[in-house]
Amino acid sequence: MQESPTPGSAAGSVVVAADFVSQLLPVEHGRRIALFLDVDGTLVGFSPTPADTTIPLHLRESLDTLTRQLDGAVSIVSGRSMRDLDRLFPDAGFTRIGAHGGVIQTPTELLASAPAPDPALLLRVRDVLQRAVAADPRLYLEDKEVSVALHYRRAPERELEVRSLISELAPDGSGLRIQWGAAVAEIRGDSFDKGTAIAALLAVAPFHGRVPLYFGDDYTDVPALRHVASVGGKSITVGPRLSDTIYLHLDGPGEVISVLHALSVALQARRAGEV
Ligand SMILES: [Mg+2]
Repeated sequence: MQESPTPGSAAGSVVVAADFVSQLLPVEHGRRIALFLDVDGTLVGFSPTPADTTIPLHLRESLDTLTRQLDGAVSIVSGRSMRDLDRLFPDAGFTRIGAHGGVIQTPTELLASAPAPDPALLLRVRDVLQRAVAADPRLYLEDKEVSVALHYRRAPERELEVRSLISELAPDGSGLRIQWGAAVAEIRGDSFDKGTAIAALLAVAPFHGRVPLYFGDDYTDVPALRHVASVGGKSITVGPRLSDTIYLHLDGPGEVISVLHALSVALQARRAGEV
């Protein structure tokens, strides 16, 4: 593993992370794991806008090491567009799930791309939200392949107004789904979520037959957390938003990075083929 300091890498944290990892690894001989990791709020903290986020080198090295150790059974799972994930994780040797499960890109092929909602509907949504952003530049419009997201992290006092506006734009029965996130509201098609994407990946190599581990911090992760728990995997919530659930819990990205490091050490100790 890399030698550079990582968040939470003090000696005490390493011991705690090793203890945590012992709860994650399957005890059955020969069972191997697959790793699914949300990005914002799980691997990295939140930035004022999604475009400000960068991935620290030590985190990328950790992901690359785990990908080698798990024979490719690692996937990023994000609400971001695939274009944005390509910017954050250039030349990734691991799988990326983008747009809340709407797009699945393995290192070699585009596995799934959900149909975008009715273009006329989305055009109207875009138009209204662009006007909202023009009136208050603290709002930030993120245009993805199959959805549109309005971020209001820089204008938190406007949350109720944003919620009201978004709810009007995507009423029940419109064929659109509202995805509420951390200071973001997104309007997208209603035929997929992160849980359906995880299920799709667990049906194919190199994920098939493995015990899934899922790390996520937000309501958008709940379908995936539930799916992973339902198939005998381990669901881990991160940060304050999902801290009252039944799942294992970590306080923030610093602890996640410590656990990933400890996981890599444990995999190394057990050797490939035995985990
Ligand atoms: Mg997140």
